[in-house]
Amino acid sequence: MHYTDVKSILSPKNGMNLYRGCTHGCIYCDSRSECYGMTYTFEDIEVKRNAPQLLEEALRKKRRRCMIGTGAMSDPYLPLEKTERLTRKALELIDRYGFGATLLTKSDLVLRDLDLLQSIHRKAKCVVQMTMTTFDEELCRIIEPGVAATRRRFEVLMELKKAGIPTVVWMTPILPFINDTEENIRGILDYCKEAEVKGLLTFGIGMTLRSGNREYFYKKLDEHFPEMKRQYMRTFGSSYGIHSPNGKVLGKLVKEFCKQNDVIYGTEAVFSYLNTLDERETQLSLFELGGSKIEERISNHAPARPPKAEEFCNSELLLANLEQLHTTELGAQRIRNNLHLDVDDVIDWCKTVICSPTSKIIRKGKNWYITMDGCTLTVNATSYTVITAHSNT
Ligand code: SF4
Repeated sequence: MHYTDVKSILSPKNGMNLYRGCTHGCIYCDSRSECYGMTYTFEDIEVKRNAPQLLEEALRKKRRRCMIGTGAMSDPYLPLEKTERLTRKALELIDRYGFGATLLTKSDLVLRDLDLLQSIHRKAKCVVQMTMTTFDEELCRIIEPGVAATRRRFEVLMELKKAGIPTVVWMTPILPFINDTEENIRGILDYCKEAEVKGLLTFGIGMTLRSGNREYFYKKLDEHFPEMKRQYMRTFGSSYGIHSPNGKVLGKLVKEFCKQNDVIYGTEAVFSYLNTLDERETQLSLFELGGSKIEERISNHAPARPPKAEEFCNSELLLANLEQLHTTELGAQRIRNNLHLDVDDVIDWCKTVICSPTSKIIRKGKNWYITMDGCTLTVNATSYTVITAHSNT
């Protein structure tokens, strides 16, 4: 393991890899491919030490809430997450700022963060994606040796169901001549049915092989499945996409299962579900949360406590109100003049005032008066409408 400081953490599509490299040892792992340009051993995990700070900065700057996801270059619940806790820290930030989250893992360590997953799902949306490729436990231990076996992953799905967290299963990759059987697919589908998964992904029935992961995969085939490498080479040559000869039959099985059980199926539909955060559903609870936090702060007179009111100031309605403030010039002009702020910075200034532990908040009649550094923001206590923002000087 080694630490690094990175320049950014969120991809343009709001994905993040908190770690790079993986110790789960899946024999088919595409992240080993040379095209990703790793300059160190795959098992020597890169820990992006400054990821939480970068994530917080990125979330603060976002005008709209959205789903934040973990990427596929590593599992967010590697064994070292128990001590490094980058995933947990990221979830804490996502929760605090009222964003949605989706994680892709094969590990039961995800249950450690159930409290956060539930909190995120209450305020916005949280979906756990679990990979399941191999129903046979013994075979699973050969193919995916470093992580919870399929039965345990199923138990995790059941726990998540009980906790009200929606799940999506990645039934991929399926390895030709190894686990591309009807029995295997039916076994996993039974698990999916019992766990009432929301969506299912297959990306076709097969796998990918390219320089880097191909060599590792063939080495493991030689160790565990004598003669299999020869069969792969004969059948697929140097192809990148490796399709199961049973692909059509198995694909049909999966598709029919999804139709019968009302499970979202297909890459586009599942990713659309994963990436969509329905603001209308979540706005009310956000306001309630923000309101109660601020009321709590007023009644407790506890100005030094952490700025938990971000959920409130991150709400779409408040942002819309602040934007309105720009255009109508209701007091914003005075802030800009007195504090020498650009138009865009007024929103950030207002957020800072609301969230700062050094600001004072008092309730008078229908309004909150939030004051910091000689400036006051007046917010209607019930609608959260920003009435005015002005400098006291
Ligand atoms: S869990 Fe994912 S990243 Fe890790 S070895 Fe397995 S396939 Fe690769």
